[in-house]
Amino acid sequence: MSPFPQIQQVTVIGAGTMGNGIAHVFAQNGFAVTLVDVQEKALEKALATIAKNLDRQVSKGSLNEADKTATLDRIHTTTDLAKGVSNADLVVEAATENEALKLSIFKTMDAHAPAAAILATNTSSISITKMAAATQRPEKVIGMHFMNPVPVMKLVEIINGYATTKEVTSTIVELSKTLQKIPCVVNDYPGFIANKVLMPMINEAIISLYEGIAGVSAIDSIMKLGMAHPMGPLQLADFIGLDVCLSIMQVLHQGYGNPKYAPCPLLVNMVTAGKLGVKSGEGFYTYTPGSKDLVVSKSFQEKE
Ligand code: NAD
Repeated sequence: MSPFPQIQQVTVIGAGTMGNGIAHVFAQNGFAVTLVDVQEKALEKALATIAKNLDRQVSKGSLNEADKTATLDRIHTTTDLAKGVSNADLVVEAATENEALKLSIFKTMDAHAPAAAILATNTSSISITKMAAATQRPEKVIGMHFMNPVPVMKLVEIINGYATTKEVTSTIVELSKTLQKIPCVVNDYPGFIANKVLMPMINEAIISLYEGIAGVSAIDSIMKLGMAHPMGPLQLADFIGLDVCLSIMQVLHQGYGNPKYAPCPLLVNMVTAGKLGVKSGEGFYTYTPGSKDLVVSKSFQEKE
């Protein structure tokens, strides 16, 4: 029995960075979870990551061995999307951030999930209302935006689509609390709140570097020391992925039609050159496997 009578069976679509964390959190809190991915390898990797993260909780003393085993036992995997959603009370879609892909997943989920099931998405930037419109149940479609790393971060940004009913929102709010998360409800406009506020700050930091107002270390140190941010905006951009930052700025720029959201030309150039941050080994800083030192990328050293 899950701690939330209305929702027993949760299906998570996509077993990548976010999907494995979402599956982990639901299973640890007593929900039966089916994790779906197109790649068998992604499912194997996700289960290994969840086991490793649970081990870390056990070694810290925040979880016991029996709860770890019970959590892993609650997770099942499949590569068959239609079968994976067939007995779901809630689906949380966390597949690759691609609009056409998500619209097709929502159509399939809608065709195969029980009529009462709520369909949620973890998208960072794609319109919830558009995904809802691809289904026959737009009133039961909602955004459930977890933060990375999911088992650690407390926030869930809950996004009402144009047609989402109050009952569905309140179910997801109460459900999020049973996951030991703090839900905040917003409406479906480009970037929601998290990225509408964060990304222009990151873009402004990149503009400041581009204009030569300050170097990488100065910009990041000012925001860390002066504003008590745990990470400077340029380091955070590297961590998120510069391609992801660019794509969210483009969503804001197109969605609001306001030039204040135009992506900085330096950001565009870096993405074009394949300098994507941590995942490519270089962005504003250079990342060497095994080293935790923060070294400013050669391209920006002379401006330090
Ligand atoms: P990821 O690339 O790590 O994982 C995506 C997974 O989806 C992959 O394993 C891929 O094989 C799988 N997939 C692709 N097509 C599929 C399909 N048709 N059916 C099932 N699985 C499929 O991506 P991620 O970083 O975990 O992001 C997932 C979602 O979460 C995106 O919408 C992203 O915007 C959002 N998000 C990401 C972060 C973050 O920090 N990474 C934070 C918040 C939200």
